[in-house]
Amino acid sequence: MNRRQLLTGAALAGPAAIDLVANTPQGDRPRGQALPKKITGVEVLYLEKPLKDRFWMSRSPIGGIKPMASRVIVHLHTDAGITGHGEGRDAGAAAFRKGFADLVIGKDPFMVGEIWERMFSVTYGREGALKGWSQSAVIGAMAAIDAALYDIMSKAAGLPLYKYLGAYRHSVPLYVTGGYYREGKGIDELVKEVMGYVGQGFDAVKIKIGGITGGYSVEDDYNRIKAIRQAAGPKLKIMLDVNGGWDVATTIRASNKLYDLDIVWLEEPLHWYDDVEALKRVKMNTRIPLASGEAEIDRWGARRLMETGVIDFMQFDCHKNAGVTEFRKIAGMASMMHILMAPHHEPPLHGHLLASIPNGYILEGFANPDRDPFWFEIFDRKPRIEKSVLYLDDTPGIGVEFNQKALAKYGTKIG
Ligand SMILES: [Mg+2]
Repeated sequence: MNRRQLLTGAALAGPAAIDLVANTPQGDRPRGQALPKKITGVEVLYLEKPLKDRFWMSRSPIGGIKPMASRVIVHLHTDAGITGHGEGRDAGAAAFRKGFADLVIGKDPFMVGEIWERMFSVTYGREGALKGWSQSAVIGAMAAIDAALYDIMSKAAGLPLYKYLGAYRHSVPLYVTGGYYREGKGIDELVKEVMGYVGQGFDAVKIKIGGITGGYSVEDDYNRIKAIRQAAGPKLKIMLDVNGGWDVATTIRASNKLYDLDIVWLEEPLHWYDDVEALKRVKMNTRIPLASGEAEIDRWGARRLMETGVIDFMQFDCHKNAGVTEFRKIAGMASMMHILMAPHHEPPLHGHLLASIPNGYILEGFANPDRDPFWFEIFDRKPRIEKSVLYLDDTPGIGVEFNQKALAKYGTKIG
């Protein structure tokens, strides 16, 4: 019996054969399962659920003035029977409704770089105008498709995504975002909310501030945060998110006032129209570390933010924009600039990504079902989060499984 017969035949069974396979050069090893070579079908769902209340940030409520939770879910089917799942934000839905997902049919899922460039080319050519695919819709749709491709590749390799990408660790810290402004909610209610998170074991929270146009002065916000610090003690990590609510002078004054409350970072303090260059003025005049980047849609915008030297934490959100492929490039540049990655929203995908880079700092999560109902309703399987730590496991791919009843209840097929 020659070696090929040995490798393909019944002689494979038994300890001797295992030895032989272990000592065989990799290229000759038999594969247990065919690798996917083609994407054979795409399904896209758009999920919507009204929120019970308005959760106000500095200038607007989560999910709009008639608040709505929304999400896109893409399923990519392959010729090898593996299905990749990718999630995205609502922006991509407009492109999926007009056939954007057809771009990946017939493609080799391992050619993810080529597929990414093909999708991105829509943003600088005529195709977008001809097909009615806006730039923001394309960038949003790319995020979900790119995630699904990484899900396929890592499933085909039989590895969880973080190991497929080359892992640094098995778990990642996570903070809870809360402290929204709500009607009738005073400092007592705010402290009660935060102490509720602490009671669940969380040791890091992010609080919404900056609501000047909603009637909250810098002093009001200072008093809100001071009450939290006093109630929770020195160990609680506190991040603050201004959501673009302040001008330069207000930011400098407020950040210096807040400094003695031991703040991990101050996030997106400045109004949208001059939120990068003007941060230099803030950086020179404050001691609080600064975070930004959730609004960036690609690596060039992220570079502009990082090379000004103004941020300590980069918050690029590849669940919303441009996908895993782009996140990895931005994280690489950030590592060279001593900037830590702290992505905006959605722990399952970003958990794998932070575990597979040297400069992953912390994830954002939610602990209130009224604020983020989908986190609590749409998964049968999701990563375990305990005491501000997200634990990854050996489930191949991104490792989430959706609850089919919830998808049927909230989802509409859009592609
Ligand atoms: Mg934010």
